Amino acid sequence: MCMPQRIAMLGGTFDPVHLGHLRSAVELRECLSLDWVHMVPACMPLLRDEPSVPPEERLALLRLGIGQTPGLLADAREIERSGPSYSADTLASLREEYGAEAQLVMALGHDAFLRLADWRTPERLFELAHLVVIDRPDHDAPLPDALVELIARREVHSSAALFQYPAGQLLRLALPTRMAISATEVRRRLAIGSSVRYLLPEAVEARIHERALYRHH
Ligand code: ATP
Repeated sequence: MCMPQRIAMLGGTFDPVHLGHLRSAVELRECLSLDWVHMVPACMPLLRDEPSVPPEERLALLRLGIGQTPGLLADAREIERSGPSYSADTLASLREEYGAEAQLVMALGHDAFLRLADWRTPERLFELAHLVVIDRPDHDAPLPDALVELIARREVHSSAALFQYPAGQLLRLALPTRMAISATEVRRRLAIGSSVRYLLPEAVEARIHERALYRHH
């Protein structure tokens, strides 16, 4: 008998991908014994400003950042779909690919989680997947009321409890290496010519410099 696959989706702008994203993805995979973590760059994010670099370039940087890392995938489905990126559609497409038995997780950082009640059809997310919220340094604001209501009775406190069902629960995780790296700060540094060494994988940094990305023109 084979175990149902355990799959996570980590969506984001990845503008650009940094070690906070990548280390979180690796630790998430270990912590929840996931088969795959799909890192899915958004084509056109709905709840934030237009990214400074086109989707294909953000995807190329993500591919370079992941390299040969076991279990991590740069997933182009939102970029290929074009148009607005709704996480529920992306989860539905993963659900179709892996089947009804698969354990599907939507992972997001605490900052993104705080805005969840503003998303389109947040309840639908819970029909398709579990939510796993990753603690992030400097992002510990209390939950808005709408969110408290949305997650009522869904929270569990271990991965064993989470995976008793294929979807519908919420787990908050403090991964071992919490990193205070943000893409905003990486872009700010690049714009003023400060060092981003050790905030990004070297290959990602090299491509950014080669192509003069994120500079102010
Ligand atoms: P920006 O600063 O441009 O808002 P970001 O660094 O938050 O970007 P996103 O692409 O928006 O990066 O993040 C994608 C997902 O990864 C989100 O769920 C976010 O919360 C999470 N994330 C980003 N950085 C970290 C980090 N350092 N640790 C844990 N999770 C992170």
